[in-house]
Amino acid sequence: MAQNLRQHSPAQVHLHILTRANSVLAGHGKKAQRIATQALADKGIVVHTHSQVSHIDKTHVYFEQGKNTDAAESSLAVDYCVVATGASPAAWLKQTGLALDEQGFIRVNDHLQSLSHPCVFAAGDIASIAGQRRPKSGVYAVRQGPPLAHNLRQFALGAKLQSYQAQRQALALLSMGEGVAIASRGSFATQGRWVERWKTWIDRRFVSKYTQLPEMLEAPASKLDTESALGGATAPPIRCAGCAAKLSSTSLSRVIASLHTCNNNNIVSSLHSTEDASVIQIDAQRVLLQSVDYLRSFISDPYLFARIASNHCLSDIHAMGATAHSALAIVGIPHAATAIMEDQLAQLMAGCTEVLNAHDTTLLGGHTSESDSLSFGLSVNAFADPKMLLRKTGMRAGDVLILSKALGTGTLFAADMRHRAKHRWIKGALAQMQRSNQSAAKSFVAHHATACTDVTGFGLLGHLREMLDDACAVEVQLSALPLLEGARWCIESGVFSSLHQDNAMHASIIRNEERFSTESRVALLFDPQTAGGLLAAVPQAQAQACLDELHRNGDTSAACIGKVQQIDMTSASILLVE
Ligand SMILES: Cc1cc2nc3c(=O)[nH]c(=O)nc-3n(C[C@H](O)[C@H](O)[C@H](O)COP(=O)(O)OP(=O)(O)OC[C@H]3O[C@@H](n4cnc5c(N)ncnc54)[C@H](O)[C@@H]3O)c2cc1C
Repeated sequence: MAQNLRQHSPAQVHLHILTRANSVLAGHGKKAQRIATQALADKGIVVHTHSQVSHIDKTHVYFEQGKNTDAAESSLAVDYCVVATGASPAAWLKQTGLALDEQGFIRVNDHLQSLSHPCVFAAGDIASIAGQRRPKSGVYAVRQGPPLAHNLRQFALGAKLQSYQAQRQALALLSMGEGVAIASRGSFATQGRWVERWKTWIDRRFVSKYTQLPEMLEAPASKLDTESALGGATAPPIRCAGCAAKLSSTSLSRVIASLHTCNNNNIVSSLHSTEDASVIQIDAQRVLLQSVDYLRSFISDPYLFARIASNHCLSDIHAMGATAHSALAIVGIPHAATAIMEDQLAQLMAGCTEVLNAHDTTLLGGHTSESDSLSFGLSVNAFADPKMLLRKTGMRAGDVLILSKALGTGTLFAADMRHRAKHRWIKGALAQMQRSNQSAAKSFVAHHATACTDVTGFGLLGHLREMLDDACAVEVQLSALPLLEGARWCIESGVFSSLHQDNAMHASIIRNEERFSTESRVALLFDPQTAGGLLAAVPQAQAQACLDELHRNGDTSAACIGKVQQIDMTSASILLVE
């Protein structure tokens, strides 16, 4: 502070340090205290020892009577006061029933295990280890990490726990400003510029461990994968989850085209049509819509995953402009102890029912099974007036293309798997993925959208391609694409979701692709989306009002991303513009 104020404050600033201890650096050796006291005096900082503060108001710091031995007055006039306290425990610990020490920290044994509740472990500042009282400092907290991790695992397996013994002393490197630091350990102390350089080196090395994380290990390739698909030359890349774990649209179309299915009466939209949900005619005014989606978890929180997956599964119904009526759940849970599996199921179903209830949609039942990874899906039913349905095809020349959510979930979660995504990027993506497409669908219906679909695994371009069945030419404006924060950085850093390459096989539909071949926003057109937004074609006269309504209702990333140029061409095409 002294260094900073000297450099930046125009006025002369007088600094005082008040401490109830008999010296600064009370927990350190005498030599460290002498060095620090001298350094503070050299900088003109007045130290008041034995000064127990009783209270502070806007103009003064008051000392407890009889304890202020340094200052003649019972108070000190101040313009600005900075209070530095030691670590203190959270107040709610008192309500937990855990055994606490006199200060309120959790009492643990040398296994870092609560003295009152053996199933609770505590380490670091919050823990008070019986017979090992140490300063609340990161040096001790960090060293408790490995034994804590080990003991949690051992406890879960019912195996022997490891004892932790805190070191008696730790090296402290204290920056004194202006390039000088003090090194203090026990009774040893020294100071100098080299100590500051040493401190900087240690601090940077520590922080870099949490910013430059190791690449995630490749998934072990099975013999079959390597030999049949890759000729044994390369291991398969990390496989993404969520909607990025879909089979490619090419494989899907090939297999579907080879199927021979019987066709019952009243089937309006079947396997071979491209609608978002199947359509079965009930009577002249009513159709039954059905959709099914199933995702592998891409996050470790079952509740949050189920919320996102449920929104994703409802999206097919919303894309058709309908309201969901009921759903059946499909759940895959990795094998574990019964209580753990039950807990995972409870969390999944809590997330799912919360979303379904918010959509007035009844959960009818479902099916659970053990699986390799946590997976969740819904088969959703809806009843609708066939005349009111939104379809994928039907866009008209002059229509404006509106996308309701930002792109980038595929690349962001691929980066997250490699520990390369920033926390706030993933937080932003998770918030968007939990947003329902229901209100966007209502806005599109209200503004007479001529076509609509939801943007999921095949990426914006793949789903736009499905809308071009009428052989129309559309223009997509790259600068208008809404992108999730961090998505562009991930793509430009070469992080692609595992479905990206298959999606990019359809790039030939872009008339001027070579002009933008190195443009990261073009790559984002192929990025698979989980719980992505709706893409709709809206008549030009309605487009601005529709966009305004989307923004008002909370789809703040919604944007007009292009327009339909011509219909009745010999083949469909997409033109990119800046
Ligand atoms: C300004 C400052 C400078 C420091 N400098 C040093 C130093 O140079 N060297 C050194 O060794 N030590 C230093 N320390 C001490 C060091 O930071 C701590 O000892 C260390 O961070 C303790 O680690 P911890 O994991 O036990 O607790 P913390 O690092 O405090 O982590 C506890 C975590 O729990 C979270 N949390 C709290 N309540 C809840 C809740 N109800 N639900 C969910 N999460 C919750 C918090 O957000 C936090 O992320 C410094 C401390 C401060 C404040």
